[in-house]
Amino acid sequence: MTDDASKPRARATLTSVHILLTYACNFSCDHCFLFSGPEARGTFTVTMLISMLDDIKKSGIANVCFEGGEAFLYYPLLVEGIRYAHELGLKTSVVTNAYWARSIADAELWLKPLASLSVGKISVSADAFHFGDEVENSAKRALAAAKALGIPTSTLRTEKPAIQSVDGKRTVGGTTLFKGRAVEKFIDGLPRRPWEELVTCPHEKLAEPSRVHLDAYGNVHLCQGVCMGNALKTPLSALIDNYHAEDDPICGLLLDGGPAALARKYNLPHEASYVDECHFCYMLRRALIETYPDILAPRQVYGIT
Ligand code: SF4
Repeated sequence: MTDDASKPRARATLTSVHILLTYACNFSCDHCFLFSGPEARGTFTVTMLISMLDDIKKSGIANVCFEGGEAFLYYPLLVEGIRYAHELGLKTSVVTNAYWARSIADAELWLKPLASLSVGKISVSADAFHFGDEVENSAKRALAAAKALGIPTSTLRTEKPAIQSVDGKRTVGGTTLFKGRAVEKFIDGLPRRPWEELVTCPHEKLAEPSRVHLDAYGNVHLCQGVCMGNALKTPLSALIDNYHAEDDPICGLLLDGGPAALARKYNLPHEASYVDECHFCYMLRRALIETYPDILAPRQVYGIT
C-alpha cells in the first residue's frame, strides 16, 4: 500500500452507497449482471442493515439507495432501512421492478409508508426485459401512484443488444452491459472486437468512484463482482481510506490498460475477440476468482454457486 497523498482517494469522491438489500428477485432477467432470481441467496438482516447504515454515516457519505435483486421482497426491512437512514440524516432512494403494483390503489398502499418517511426518489425498471410488450404494466401503475403521493420518480430502461451498422461496420447497440447473466444469454452471434483493442474500463470510475454497492455478505463493489474489500472484515470508512485503485491487483490493471492489461499480466488464456470491454473483463475475472477471492466476490455474481 502506498502512502502517496497525491493519489485520488475514494473518500473525496464517494457520495452514495447502494445497498443490495437482497440478491433475490421475482424475475430472472436475461440482462441481470448480478444473476439475481428467486433462488438467489444473500439478504441483509436488520441488525446488519442498522450497523452498515451507522458505518455509512460515520464514513461521511450522504446518500443511500436501496436496491437488489428486488428490495420490495423484504418490505419491512426496506421500510426500517429508510426510517433509520433518515434518523441518521441520510438521503434515501429506492429501485424496484414494481411487481407489487397490481393496481394504482394497491401501489399506493405499498408506497404510503415510504411517502410518509419522505423517501427521496423511487426509480422503476420499465423496459421490455421486465414487462415484454405489455402496454399497461406495473411500472406505469407504480409511477402513477408515486406521483399521486408526491414521491419523486425516475424510470430505468435497459435496451436489448441489437446489431447496428456504424460507418459500414457491424457494431452492438443497446444498453445491456455484458457481464453476469447477460454474457450467458446474449453474446452468441454478436459482432466482436480483437482483444488487443479492449484497453479501457468504459463504464466505471475505478480511481475516483462516486458510488459503491454493498451486499449482505459485506462486499463493497466498485463494479459488479469487483470489490474494494469486505465491510464485515474491515470497517467501511477504513476500506474507503485505504483504497488506492493504482495499487489494486485488478482495478490498477484495468485503469492502466483495460482488460487487455489484465490478460497480459496474469498470462490468462483467452479468445481472439470479445463483444466489448466488459465481456472480456468479466471472463478474465471469472478465471481469477480463486486467486483473488476477497476482491472478485461473491461467486454467485459470476454464476458460480
Ligand atoms: S471493464 Fe470491467 S470493471 Fe469496467 S465496467 Fe466493464 S466489467 Fe466493470
